[in-house]
Amino acid sequence: MSEIVTTIDIQGKLPKVASGKVRDLFAVDDGTLLFVASDRISAYDVIMENGIPGKGALLTAMSIYWFNYLPQHVPGLKTHYISNTLPGPISSLTSFKDRSMQVRRLRIIPIESIVRGYITGSGWSEYKKSGTVNGIKLPAGLIEGQKLPQPLWTPSTKAELGDKDENISPEKAREIIADAKIAARVEQLSLAIYEAAAKRAESVGIVLADTKFEFGLDEKDEVVLVDEVLTPDSSRFWPKDTWEQNLGKAQPSFDKQFLRDWLTSNGLKGKDGVKVPEEIVQQTAEKYREAYEKIAGKSA
Ligand code: ATP
Ligand code: MG
Repeated sequence: MSEIVTTIDIQGKLPKVASGKVRDLFAVDDGTLLFVASDRISAYDVIMENGIPGKGALLTAMSIYWFNYLPQHVPGLKTHYISNTLPGPISSLTSFKDRSMQVRRLRIIPIESIVRGYITGSGWSEYKKSGTVNGIKLPAGLIEGQKLPQPLWTPSTKAELGDKDENISPEKAREIIADAKIAARVEQLSLAIYEAAAKRAESVGIVLADTKFEFGLDEKDEVVLVDEVLTPDSSRFWPKDTWEQNLGKAQPSFDKQFLRDWLTSNGLKGKDGVKVPEEIVQQTAEKYREAYEKIAGKSA
């Protein structure tokens, strides 16, 4: 078993560009970034004390799987993915090997490009209040977890660190993006990628309820898929075989359900500094592996 990495220590060898809940980003050179995924896990917005063995590597492998798969299924799609090799200055840091990817550094389009195929989460909350999702009017009588008549582009703002992203209407997103052609391309690519990925997931027994993409612009102002893609951190994956019986209530999360159930039943939901017992760690690790193996169709 490889070591569990909860702190990314690059020993000062590359400048850090950003640090999220789970991943750190470093500059390799002007045009290249290194994405490193740790084994940290969060639930109910809190990071646990201990990590999940193999999680960073599995999430990286999943993103890379999609970066290879998607351009073959979505005509004209470009991605920021360059390689899964380590840049020279850190080539000896073996704990980075499977959890890292090099990508093209691009100008980020400042919205979160969310697509929903099913109604749940913040979309469900809005619908219950107003019959809309991101201001888009939907038919009456939908129930929680139901498949939408068609996938919807439901963007959100990209908040500064510490602030919460806010759902916005497609019109508002077009305004933020400013360039009508670029905005139309972002919407069209988001829906096309969702459709291709949902089809793939469905064929292996996983419902892709919704997901979040980010896009950047290259030197020719072409829209390019960036960030991590279609991992359990950016998407809702539901087991297809229990979807129908759970309509009308919260669907079990494919990856984090053991952890969430354990936190809730022990009164630890939302508490800081929680150490997760070994048994839950192992069950969760197994779920991440299963998600990867199902989707990629190969063992990790
Ligand atoms: P979290 O995802 O944990 O809520 P976060 O989104 O702030 O937090 P990360 O997802 O780790 O943290 O940060 C990734 C950052 O890198 C995002 O701001 C994203 O827009 C940016 N990014 C992703 N791909 C590229 C790229 N190819 N070029 C430049 N910036 C990128
Ligand atoms: Mg992020």
